[in-house]
Order: sequence, then C-alpha cells, then structure tokens
Amino acid sequence: MLRLFDAHCHLQDPRILSKAPQLIKTAQDTGVAYFAVNGVSEQDWHSVKHLAQTYPSVIPCFGLHPWYVKERSPNWFKTLREYFDSTPSAAVGEIGVDKGSRGRNIDFTEQLLEVHQWLKMAEARQASKLVEATQVVRFFSKEKKK
Ligand SMILES: [Zn+2]
Repeated sequence: MLRLFDAHCHLQDPRILSKAPQLIKTAQDTGVAYFAVNGVSEQDWHSVKHLAQTYPSVIPCFGLHPWYVKERSPNWFKTLREYFDSTPSAAVGEIGVDKGSRGRNIDFTEQLLEVHQWLKMAEARQASKLVEATQVVRFFSKEKKK
C-alpha cells in the first residue's frame, strides 16, 4: 500500500475533534501514515499536543493563523515556547499573512511582525515551518533581494 503523509490538516478543530479517532483510523486504513496537525490559535495548542500524545501518527504543529493574531494573549509567545519545550517533535504550524477578505481587516504590519517572530523562533530551534500564504514568500523574497 502506498504510504501517504497528510501535510496539512486540522484534526484539533472543535467541530471535528470528537471524530478525530475515526478520521485517523479511516485515513490510516487507506494508507495515510502521518498527519501534520496544524494549530491555528493559542486556544487550540493544547488539543494539538493532546492529539500528538495520543496518536504517534500525529505531528504536532503549533501555529497562529493571521485571522487569530488579535485573539492572542499578552503571554502568547511565552506559552508557545513552553509548548515547544515540552513537545520537542513539534513543528511550526500555520503562520503567515492574509490580505484576503477577512485578513485585510487585520493590521498587515502586525501580521508581518508576528510572522517574523515565529520564523526567528523556529530558526533558533531548527524547527520545521509550515507557512500559510504566498504573500509571506513574496515579502521575504523581496527583503532578501534588497
Ligand atoms: Zn490550514
């Protein structure tokens, strides 16, 4: 059987979390060996970690989607570091910028500063990074050319 890696899923989403055991089993039965579970906000990091502790096939990815930048707590970065410290196998999950219909209402500079902070932290930890949005790639490509 072909072994597959689901490189982007949100099994921690409260709308489907209770179905995660069945979803994982069904996917494994069809050849999915690993799942990169991408946290999108500070509120779901505990579920991402719990899924990884429960299922060896889950790669925990802690992230902060640009839509949830405003909802982060004042201690979000300290909390994030604690999650990485206690979960050495973790990767950086869903981070990036968004200028779309919802993202354009979020301060773009704040989005970029947040992404920059994540990338520096990931670089220091040599963690894998899963970056959302092509605009980040474009922005940082332009920065490198300067
Ligand atoms: Zn996603």
